[in-house]
Amino acid sequence: MNVRTSSLGYPRIGGSREWKKALEAYWAGRISREKLEEELSAIQESHLRTQRDAGLDFVPVGDFSYYDHVLDTAFMFDVVPPRFRKENGKEGLDLYFAMARGGENATACEMTKWFNTNYHYIVPEIGETAPRLVWNKPLEAYRFAKSRLGIAGKPVLVGPYTLVRLSKGYAAQEFESVVRRFLPVYVQVLKELAEEGATWVQLDEPALATGFPQEHLKLLEEIYGELSTAAPGLSILLQTYFEAAEPLGDILKLPVSGFGLDFVHDGGANLEALRQLEWPAGKSLWAGIIDGRGIWRCDPEAKLSLAEELAALVPGDSLILQPSCSLLHVPVSVRGERKLKPEVRGALAFADEKLEELALLKLALREGREAAGEALSEANAALAAFRALPERSRADVAELTRGLAELPDRRSTAYAERARLQRVKWDLPLLPTTTIGSFPQTPEVRQARLKWRRGEWNQEQYDSFIRKEIESAIAFQESAGLDVLVHGEFERTDMVEFFGEKLDGFLFTEGGWVQSYGSRCVKPPVIYADVAFTEPMTVKETVYAQSLTQRPVKGMLTGPVTILNWSFVRDDLSREQVALQIALALRQEILALESAGIEMIQVDEPAVREGLPLKASDQEAYLDWAVRAFRISTGLVRPTTQIHTHMCYCEFGEMIGSISDMDADVISIETSRSHGELIESFESMHYDKGIGLGVYDIHSPRVPSVLEMETAIDRALRVLEPEQFWINPDCGLKTRGWKETEAALRNMTEAAVSARRKT
Ligand code: GLN
Ligand code: ZN
Repeated sequence: MNVRTSSLGYPRIGGSREWKKALEAYWAGRISREKLEEELSAIQESHLRTQRDAGLDFVPVGDFSYYDHVLDTAFMFDVVPPRFRKENGKEGLDLYFAMARGGENATACEMTKWFNTNYHYIVPEIGETAPRLVWNKPLEAYRFAKSRLGIAGKPVLVGPYTLVRLSKGYAAQEFESVVRRFLPVYVQVLKELAEEGATWVQLDEPALATGFPQEHLKLLEEIYGELSTAAPGLSILLQTYFEAAEPLGDILKLPVSGFGLDFVHDGGANLEALRQLEWPAGKSLWAGIIDGRGIWRCDPEAKLSLAEELAALVPGDSLILQPSCSLLHVPVSVRGERKLKPEVRGALAFADEKLEELALLKLALREGREAAGEALSEANAALAAFRALPERSRADVAELTRGLAELPDRRSTAYAERARLQRVKWDLPLLPTTTIGSFPQTPEVRQARLKWRRGEWNQEQYDSFIRKEIESAIAFQESAGLDVLVHGEFERTDMVEFFGEKLDGFLFTEGGWVQSYGSRCVKPPVIYADVAFTEPMTVKETVYAQSLTQRPVKGMLTGPVTILNWSFVRDDLSREQVALQIALALRQEILALESAGIEMIQVDEPAVREGLPLKASDQEAYLDWAVRAFRISTGLVRPTTQIHTHMCYCEFGEMIGSISDMDADVISIETSRSHGELIESFESMHYDKGIGLGVYDIHSPRVPSVLEMETAIDRALRVLEPEQFWINPDCGLKTRGWKETEAALRNMTEAAVSARRKT
């Protein structure tokens, strides 16, 4: 079988995050522009070499970026918001970075999630711009690969439909005309590519896999009709990913030469649809059969049969195998991992290993399974060893999960009654003041943790340092007049890592970094086995904090859905099943806190929205189990125990009903940036529980005045009952310094006092 292989994009950050380091050195003024370009070119070249040497038939070019590929696309077409034109004559790269990071006089462009991944792109602001081609990035990349390495690459570029869908600065009814405005510049890009000798171009249209209005089909026919005749000799690959491309029958009628489909994250729908359809003659199928965003090794036998079925559905030599999406979303290579158990290490596949998997499949399909015999048996053995790990199928966890059916997943007492009991128990003033949990992670705090991790400090030294931090945090909160205190989270690096290190079922890689946005990289924990509680994780610090004060101290935990959504998750169980395991483990922690006398407990769920499925039709099922997982962790406490939760964003939209179903006694939400809208949505649903709408933005060191916060409180009280309302900043304070934190919180309690006087 004559299959070929391709890829959609490679991680930018480099195996040792050299990309990030070079960028940050340039921003800090430590290296020159020439040096930056030299270093990034070297990185880009080595990535191309790696992909070529891995045996890809089509090496992507143009996926590399100095920050973000959507920003690149906007920049190519001169979509620069007017406020940046005044950036002291900045141009080229410095203007580009100003759009991403903010300039001297212009705030940065908005950043938002790239579909349902944890990658964030810069949102283009189209406004009145008349697009013109000022930088043919894919052409430049094509030439680069050709001249440096003799690679005739496959240029990739965000397609016009998706580009406009992801942009802002136009009215909904202008959508079609805005897309048309971009046609001439796309035509020009393709022409120049064809003249240079490129034979294929990949236009990324993931928006076609998120569900789109039927009436857009005509527009798509029109734009792709024009693009496909623009540059004779250049074939267009219309690439979708992250979900099924629906309706596939209509999409396959679009006048392009190839279609890229995701066969991993489509819920099986792409294959199912193909079985019912006739494949359009003469077109090629770019089949994403290797998981481009998960980190697990594939089962080669399963992939080979999938490839064989696809080959039978698509006649001729027109099947190309590839990852399901750009490898941007996985770390670079497993090679540097020296500390993992061999059974686990052998089951991982990051970007480089995924390219090896493709090469193996190609070999087995082209020359027969015997030709690939050794590598296939090695893969099968590795998978078998991983699957056999006892911690992946624990009887105790299975039993707990089975027991779920018998235990209630709701609080035994309805909210109204709980509220009455809690008012008596807690006797808080009207408009109680609190914070979201963390206090500044100063250099000293980070230093102390480092000393302890390196073994320079023993446990007792570290614990006593943490106790001192807690003491001063409690003393400060009392002096500032806060009503509900927190211990400050000094012992935590990161809200997921901290719990992952203490629960069973998680592992941490040494170098498993992925780009989150710009130069910011994250190293998600890996859930590789059954998740289980081992011992109390937060009791010691919270109880100590409570021993120092008469006021209530809130316990502080990260919720099950957030832990799930910020980790790489095993793929043999459903996400729901894994969320329930985490919920059960957290439930034990919450009960441990409660029996240690901590009866106000906050379970943070800032990442619920991150897991929201792309297709509206799948969202309800997700929200149902996400809410249930939260309720399972919090449902067994006494009616007088007060459960808080916190969320970090404000575009709730379809989620607002689910938030109420979580049944937390108090929710705090990050709102300072869009107060009005949010208050209205809570009002319109008659939200009856406790609610703290952040009264100031913690993302800047600016100290808000008393008056400013009073205004925010007044605004909220116009629609919310004073008995319902809590006063707090909009998120944790760990990225702030103490000076501004103290000043801001003192102003906040003063604003509360004066608001109370008025009510
Ligand atoms: N309790 C956490 C903190 O205060 C919440 C962080 C978050 O919302 N992302 O840092
Ligand atoms: Zn937050």
